[in-house]
Amino acid sequence: MSLETSFERHSLPLEDPFMIAGERTTVEQDVITVRIADGDGTIGVGGAAPAAHYGETVDTAMAVLPELLAVVEDVGDPHQLDRIERRLRETVRQNPAARTAVSIALHDLVTKRLDVPLYRYWGLDPSETLDTSYTIGLDETERMREKAELAVDRGFGTLKLKLGTDRDIEIVRTIRSAAPDARLFVDANEAWTPRQAVDRIDRLTEFDLAFVEQPVPAEDPEGLRFVYERSALPIAADESCITLSDIPQIADRCDIANLKLMKCGGLREAMRMIHTARAHGLQVMCGCMTESNASIAAACHLAPLLDYADLDGSLLLADDSYDGVPVVDGTIELDQLDRSGTGALMR
Ligand code: MG
Repeated sequence: MSLETSFERHSLPLEDPFMIAGERTTVEQDVITVRIADGDGTIGVGGAAPAAHYGETVDTAMAVLPELLAVVEDVGDPHQLDRIERRLRETVRQNPAARTAVSIALHDLVTKRLDVPLYRYWGLDPSETLDTSYTIGLDETERMREKAELAVDRGFGTLKLKLGTDRDIEIVRTIRSAAPDARLFVDANEAWTPRQAVDRIDRLTEFDLAFVEQPVPAEDPEGLRFVYERSALPIAADESCITLSDIPQIADRCDIANLKLMKCGGLREAMRMIHTARAHGLQVMCGCMTESNASIAAACHLAPLLDYADLDGSLLLADDSYDGVPVVDGTIELDQLDRSGTGALMR
C-alpha cells in the first residue's frame, strides 16, 4: 500500500492564560497535526503537543517528523502498528510527542479503514467511561475561585487545582467552600520539598481531596517514597511517570500512575503502561498537555481502562479546530461518538 503523509504546525490560543508551578504562563500552545492517507482517500489524523519539560519543542518535533513518517511509508501497511511503533522508537529515541502524533494518526486511519471507533478496535465497553477533571491553573486565589465556580456551572463535577505556592492551603480552602460537592484533585507539579509535602498534605486532609499529584521533584524518588509512606491522601505520580520503564520504579512510591500520550510516545506504549501499572497494584490516570482534539480524542478511548481522567486539554482552548469525543457535563461520552476512528474531525 502506498501511504501519503504530511504535517503542519499551528498555534492554539488558550481561553485563559494558564500557569503551573515552575513554568512560564502559557497563552497559546504550539502543536503539530500529522495526516496519513491511504490510497482510498481515508485520512488518519494525529496531534503532537510537545512539552519543553520533557525536552521536546515544536521545532525539534518538526525536525524529526520526516524521518518518522519515512518509516510509516517504508512499512506501507498501516495495520502493522506494533512493527511501526517499534521502528519509530528505534529511529528517534527522544521526541515522544512526535512519535505519539504518528501513532494516533495510524490508529485513526486503521480504525476508519475498519469502520469502527477506536475503543471498539481495542475491545472496550464505551459505557464504562468516567468524568474528566477540569483544571484550574495557578492564579490569584479569588480568580481561581471564580474559575472553579464557572467550571461547576458548566457541569464539571471534578476539578483539578494547580498548587505549589505559599498559599496552597488558602487556595484549597477557598475552592472547597465555593464548590462543596466537587471532587477535587490537587497537583503540586514538583513544587514541594518532601517535608513541606508531608506537612501540607496533613493540613489538606480535611478538605476531602481525591489525591495529591506529584508533590516533590521527579529527581527525588526517595522523597516521593518519604511522602507516600506518610501521606493520608493517595499520591499520584506524573513527572515521575514518563514511560513504561518508570512503572516498576514508582510502584512502591505512589498510589496512582498518571500517564500521558505526549510523554510515553504512542498509544501502544500507553496501553502497556496501563496494564503494567495494574500488575504493580497501581491505579491508573490518563492526563494530557494543553492539546487539540486531534490528539485528545484518542486518549479519550482509553477511558474504560482508567480510574481517573484529566483530559481537558481541548476544553482549555479558546478555539479548537477539531471536534473529538463528546464531553457532556464533564463526562467523556464514548457511546455518544457517532463515527469511526478516534473521532477527531476538522470543524
Ligand atoms: Mg500533573
